[in-house]
Amino acid sequence: DRMNVALDGPAGAGKSTVARQVAKRLGYVYVDTGAMYRAVTLAAIRSGIRPDEADKLRELVASLEIALMPGPEGQVVLLNGEDVTEQIRTRDVTLSVSAVAANEAVRAKLVDLQRKMASERGIVMDGRDIGTHVLPDAELKVFLTASVQIRAFRRFQELKEEDRVPIEQLEREIAERDRSDEQREISPLICAKDAVVLDSSDMTIEQVVEAILDMSRT
Ligand code: C5P
Repeated sequence: DRMNVALDGPAGAGKSTVARQVAKRLGYVYVDTGAMYRAVTLAAIRSGIRPDEADKLRELVASLEIALMPGPEGQVVLLNGEDVTEQIRTRDVTLSVSAVAANEAVRAKLVDLQRKMASERGIVMDGRDIGTHVLPDAELKVFLTASVQIRAFRRFQELKEEDRVPIEQLEREIAERDRSDEQREISPLICAKDAVVLDSSDMTIEQVVEAILDMSRT
């Protein structure tokens, strides 16, 4: 029987890579909820709205249409019909997204969309609040972590030459984003009581994927 898999954890733990591969192996649909918060953040930056301007953000998010589409090279993110898959990965977006994601109206709209996407089972959804809030009845919940040093190192390796910043700076930025995701009032980043914790610090992606597939079979 098809089920829903919730994959949560801090920034850079490898959630999206793992979730994509698990979905592929199970024949499920992968949903990257971080991409949705990033798309709203991109729209806010373009409109000159600061993350602390709550009313303006509320108005903005009401006017946005955000969609995720499976594409040949992975998931495509559409913002009012425009393909913003690349643009939501810039440093500017990454530095503001956590503050935008703390906005109540933004969360309400995106969580609603995410629940609709998961209404037919067979979804692997990654994020921060999937097991605790978005899909509390998911059949399998995994909380994927790794030390902040390892996460910064992996992020560093992913960056293109021209985007590289010192690894210590990445480490500070990741720690800061975790803190802000853990301390926000609405559905903060926290491990669900019924989630399996996987520390990937000493594991390869393949090992994490296999571990989750094993869990999905039992
Ligand atoms: O997963 P990713 O790093 O792309 O997520 C970007 C940001 O979006 C997170 O740091 C967090 O602030 C926000 N987010 C969230 N809830 C989710 C997914 C992402 O608040 N379910």
